[in-house]
Amino acid sequence: MRDTLKHSGMRNKLANVLAAKGIRDKKVLDVIRTIPRHLFLDSSFEAHAYQDKAFPIGADQTISQPYTVAFQSELLEISANDKVLEIGTGSGYQTAVLLGLKVKVYTIERQLELFKKTSLFFSKMGYRPKKATFGDGYKGMPEEAPFDGIIVTAGAPFVPKPLLAQLKIGGRLVIPVGIDEQIMTLFIRKSAKEFEKKEFGSFRFVPLLEDKN
Ligand code: SAH
Repeated sequence: MRDTLKHSGMRNKLANVLAAKGIRDKKVLDVIRTIPRHLFLDSSFEAHAYQDKAFPIGADQTISQPYTVAFQSELLEISANDKVLEIGTGSGYQTAVLLGLKVKVYTIERQLELFKKTSLFFSKMGYRPKKATFGDGYKGMPEEAPFDGIIVTAGAPFVPKPLLAQLKIGGRLVIPVGIDEQIMTLFIRKSAKEFEKKEFGSFRFVPLLEDKN
């Protein structure tokens, strides 16, 4: 097992870089200081793991850039014990950040290879999402709904209706919307039918894969 405690200096620096880039939520920055990002990547990337960059994780996917993870986590405005659904487990880094924020995490991954690899990694590391499933994130997780927060970690060509439907009143959906480039979008559920929508700058994500069945 590679060392979890290693690189604490680089993790601190990364959190400082994110603060300088505008991340204000102290809880999010503190969690970034604790998650051993080098273990979520192939060992060949270890020396670069604390740069504010995305890296390949296999199956044509990437671990999100730390700034993006922090930005999305901050927009969720979560409190301890909230129920949060993550679409796109990928490397599990965002999942670990959410767990560090002490929420109940439900996560869905569409690619079997990544689902298997990351599930094994979670159990080795002692990361315990409430549920990690192999499935289609466009559908959300109706059997566990409603959620306080839903975070989509791949670029969505449109906003899937089931995700809005699975929010509690007051719940927040953070979703990058767009094809080549995505606008980070926040929906806050005001009532059964009303949602407030806010947009925040552009980002680049790998695409949210559509159901092939
Ligand atoms: N949260 C991840 C980001 C990985 S990139 C991390 O921190 O590493 C986005 C992930 O979304 C990829 O793993 C990709 O396979 C997955 N994905 C793409 N389309 C999906 C879908 N329809 N449902 C669930 N996951 C999907």
